[in-house]
Amino acid sequence: MSTLTAEDKKIILDSIRDIPDFPKPGIIFKDITTLLNTPEAFKLLMNHLEKRYETYELDYIAGIDARGFIFGSILADRLGVGFVPVRKKGKLPYTTVAEKYSLEYGYDEVEVHIDAFENKKGARVLLIDDLIATGGTAKAAASLINKVDAHCVECCFIAELTFLNGKEGIESDVYSVLEF
Ligand code: AMP
Repeated sequence: MSTLTAEDKKIILDSIRDIPDFPKPGIIFKDITTLLNTPEAFKLLMNHLEKRYETYELDYIAGIDARGFIFGSILADRLGVGFVPVRKKGKLPYTTVAEKYSLEYGYDEVEVHIDAFENKKGARVLLIDDLIATGGTAKAAASLINKVDAHCVECCFIAELTFLNGKEGIESDVYSVLEF
């Protein structure tokens, strides 16, 4: 099991930028583009995730649209497993399975290809995204994975907004590298 030193954690933490009032007033957006263009922080993070998950016997990494694709596909390549995109409605070209989730007003929907995990029945899947806020997106994505007969072993986030208690209600284990 990999643990980050306080010093390494600070390097990653300091590389994430706060954008106040984006995309709307009152929201502090955690901008990870500044992590991505800081090679030292990015490599520390990916080394940490590789070390943590190398013993999990994963079959796939599923990344949430869109920032989960970045971390998820690098990790999948490092671990030598497949990558599966969990996309917002209407983006995937083949037959999909969908899961709805509530937003402040209305609802949104995530989808995966129906055969995304078919190379292995009961596949062990790690779900990854950049950030968990209310947890609605991750909860829907995790139940989608289970719906297509794979098994969401853990949900991994680079950052968690702990005051929103997003991980409550997610049935899988949850791991967040950083907490705000
Ligand atoms: P939620 O479903 O509320 O947990 O929202 C998670 C999704 O919205 C993730 O894909 C995040 O990238 C994005 N998100 C929500 N709040 C923020 C925030 N304050 N900063 C950056 N991304 C956010």
